[in-house]
Amino acid sequence: MSRQAEPDHADAPDVDELTPPDRTLMGPGPSDVNPRVLRAMSTPLVGHLDPSFVEMMDEVQDLLRYAFRTDNQWTIPVSGTGSAAMEAAIGNVVAPGDLALVPSNGYFGDRMAEMVRRAGGEVARVDAPWGEPLDPADVRSGVEEHDPDVVGFVHAETSTGALQPNVPAITEAAHDAGALVIADCVTSLGGVELRVDEWGIDVAYSGPQKCLSCPPGASPLTLNDRAMDAVRSRDEPVRSWYLDLSLLEDYWGDERAYHHTAPVTNVYALREALRLVAEEGIEERWERHRHVAGALRAGLEEMGLALNAPEEAWLPSLNAVRVPDGVDDSAVIERLLDEHGIEIASGLGAMTGEVFRIGCMGHSARPGNVMALLAALGTELERAGADVDADAGLATARSEL
Ligand SMILES: *Cc1c(COP(=O)(O)O)cnc(C)c1O
Repeated sequence: MSRQAEPDHADAPDVDELTPPDRTLMGPGPSDVNPRVLRAMSTPLVGHLDPSFVEMMDEVQDLLRYAFRTDNQWTIPVSGTGSAAMEAAIGNVVAPGDLALVPSNGYFGDRMAEMVRRAGGEVARVDAPWGEPLDPADVRSGVEEHDPDVVGFVHAETSTGALQPNVPAITEAAHDAGALVIADCVTSLGGVELRVDEWGIDVAYSGPQKCLSCPPGASPLTLNDRAMDAVRSRDEPVRSWYLDLSLLEDYWGDERAYHHTAPVTNVYALREALRLVAEEGIEERWERHRHVAGALRAGLEEMGLALNAPEEAWLPSLNAVRVPDGVDDSAVIERLLDEHGIEIASGLGAMTGEVFRIGCMGHSARPGNVMALLAALGTELERAGADVDADAGLATARSEL
């Protein structure tokens, strides 16, 4: 009797070839990626110390400076997602025993505060209602009361859809007390007006998969000389070896010495995504977001929905919309994905069940996406019995686009 030998790999999992579904990404990130960026990611690897890669590193740094509107020498992509850049910013600038004023008005402000604590810092809070922008006068009185070393705030709060207007009033209050300012610009960089140098932001970080429309993996960070001096003069080394900027300086600075292997493909992707920003022009890009998201907002409002953020804090890249009474938000979100191939998100943290979060970021911020989203959302809300006028919303958006 012949006995067939069992192939060695009989216990290997039988997994199908990768075929991700076709989605339109209109949530809080990731956003749709331009095909040029995807092509850049399929080009061959070079070593992370290859002269050609070193040249690319310089180009990425220049392109990042352009997008951030800064001349900061210390401008790099941090390996990891936005939270890695966030932890690099906070973990380097906040030393044990430092006091940080983090007037949190949303989920990501809370995350900043938590990172301060983990870096050994103390958090002083300013009362700031969720969904509303910070009042610079409250920040100033908080600064005067607590005399912090660092002030941290979120420029574009993705959890509530609130933009922080009047950033210079916040940085001025902080600087008057000698504090450094860290700004979370994850959902603003490349999507809404952001001027790091002009506005006096000492440290800004972002993520690639929001308004830059790049896959997650290498995240923008910039620090001015004052902030870098504070990092260099710490008494105690940064608690994270991986994110220690004084060590990363050897790789991103003149020396180009190995620290950790750069995510080469993600750097390619970021380079191409930033090239697209430069080609479009940063101010033109902010204007496109205002225009396209403005039509989205007008359509949503005409349909009968209300935005969560007050008018002066409207955030084009993330439109948080109140869920109409009696509507099950997760059922609507699920149907949008299953029936229409469109991703949006529910509320986060304290806003769970209260808002739909509709992103309008980077390559996703296009007229066709807005029309498709409004048609799909209108259809599903009507189906769910909400009192909305989908046709009116569509007609308004079309006339604005
Ligand atoms: C997405 C986001 C982050 C975190 O970025 P990840 O890439 O998810 O790690 C931080 N802050 C804000 C405001 C964000 O929107």
